Amino acid sequence: MSIETRPPTTTREDVYLDGAFVPSASTGRCAVVNPATEDLLGEVPGGSADDVERAVAAASRAFDGWAALGAPERAASFAGLGELIERHADELVELIVAEVGVTLAWARDVHVGRLAANIANLLRLGDQMPAPQGIGQSMVVREPAGVVGSISPWNYPFGFFTKVVPALVAGCTVVTKPSEVAPFSVYRLTELIDELGLPPGVFNVVMGAGPVAGAALAGHPGIDVVTFTGSVRTGRQILEAVAPNITRPILELGGKSAAIILEGAPFEQAVRGTLWNCYMNNGQVCGAQTRLLVPRSRMADAAEIAAAAASGYVPGPPLDPGTTLGPVVNSAQHARVLGYIRSALAEGATLVCGGPERPAGLERGYFVAPTVFADVQPDMTIAREEIFGPVLSILGYEDEDDAVRIANHSDYGLSGAVWAESDEEAVRIARRLRTGQVQINAGVFNGLAPFGGFKRSGMGREGGVFGLLEFSEVKSMQLPAGSPLTVAQ
Ligand code: NAD
Repeated sequence: MSIETRPPTTTREDVYLDGAFVPSASTGRCAVVNPATEDLLGEVPGGSADDVERAVAAASRAFDGWAALGAPERAASFAGLGELIERHADELVELIVAEVGVTLAWARDVHVGRLAANIANLLRLGDQMPAPQGIGQSMVVREPAGVVGSISPWNYPFGFFTKVVPALVAGCTVVTKPSEVAPFSVYRLTELIDELGLPPGVFNVVMGAGPVAGAALAGHPGIDVVTFTGSVRTGRQILEAVAPNITRPILELGGKSAAIILEGAPFEQAVRGTLWNCYMNNGQVCGAQTRLLVPRSRMADAAEIAAAAASGYVPGPPLDPGTTLGPVVNSAQHARVLGYIRSALAEGATLVCGGPERPAGLERGYFVAPTVFADVQPDMTIAREEIFGPVLSILGYEDEDDAVRIANHSDYGLSGAVWAESDEEAVRIARRLRTGQVQINAGVFNGLAPFGGFKRSGMGREGGVFGLLEFSEVKSMQLPAGSPLTVAQ
């Protein structure tokens, strides 16, 4: 059957506990909808505290045996996964397109294509656990943090890998809850992980709605670390849920990142690069550069270049090879994005292209026209709040200090960019930004570099060795004088 005609999913009623797919104890169901057609794709369990209970029990039982292995050995357990993913890449791509609505090319190249690189990186993580360190008469070691609860969003369903895999390599066992909005791709990936034959209970997947399954997981006393990616609103609920048990939270939340273009930077490349960054994944990326800061005198040039670049984005069915912009993920998100566009019009921003009307010829699906606003003021709603759709705001600044002040005038601090004549100049400005990542000129994303936020963008870091160490506890052992175990310093 071709990708266009096959029904992409069926309803599922199971969860993955203790090394096997078993029926969920959920009574309710979550509907999964194709954002491009608004058709029902299927249903998944609505979530149940009983599933979470069984999953945490399995992870707790598996912990001692898994923690006793060396990190390289744990990492090596995933060695066959890259090949399995390559062999089943088309199925995974199909599921991502159906439930997230991203274009076929983006699903293939980024959502699925980058998984292989992630796996290669995780195999390397096995060698990066720090050796015991000597401090005075003490030996300081890293121990696995325990049982990890992972809760992830729908925009990159396989993004849970950047949490779960470092946790497993660090010696933790895991219960993960994917988003109920895009669960079928995670089911399929879990089937592939099952083929690896990890010890039962090391990796468990529960399904369901956030307030049911997610809340039960975050608040479970058997969980030692909760690693969460999602909205600030849910991040606050997670903090409340972990408080009674003093469970360690790692939070990757939203963003409203600024790209600053300084005088002397390659202007057209910088404007086009920022628009691309803002629109990728149909405008649904936490680190998206959604505020473009240009010298006030260049506002008209920036608007013209951005409009020309935006006109190259073709909204349409994600499987259509001519489509370069798919829909946003669901009706709630669609209404939210259009609401932000209307707020910008009401607050006096200049609409350069796009707007709240449906793109021509698309009567169904949650499509948003590629939209650019110019003359956006720092206190306007669209300059302050995360939109999560293809909407770029262009703001003018007077001088470097003003640019830095506007960029930092945000509750968020996840990402950003500085474009300048030289990398040195860009780094000088980047050091003044209150944000966790900064793209310097045309620098590209590096999955091994730490990723995470300042301010309300979260706490903790993912990626590479920084992400790995989040899943460890530090233990100091005070040795007697002259002990043969003394570590050289
Ligand atoms: P969301 O907060 O609505 O949901 C995220 C996850 O939390 C889902 O699995 C959901 O079921 C669960 N959840 C919801 N309520 C819960 C509760 N009360 N207790 C426990 N779990 C609960 O976010 P979303 O709409 O799925 O994703 C979009 C958001 O995620 C955006 O704000 C985006 O910026 C953010 N995000 C951040 C990053 C990052 O790395 N910083 C990456 C991707 C997305």
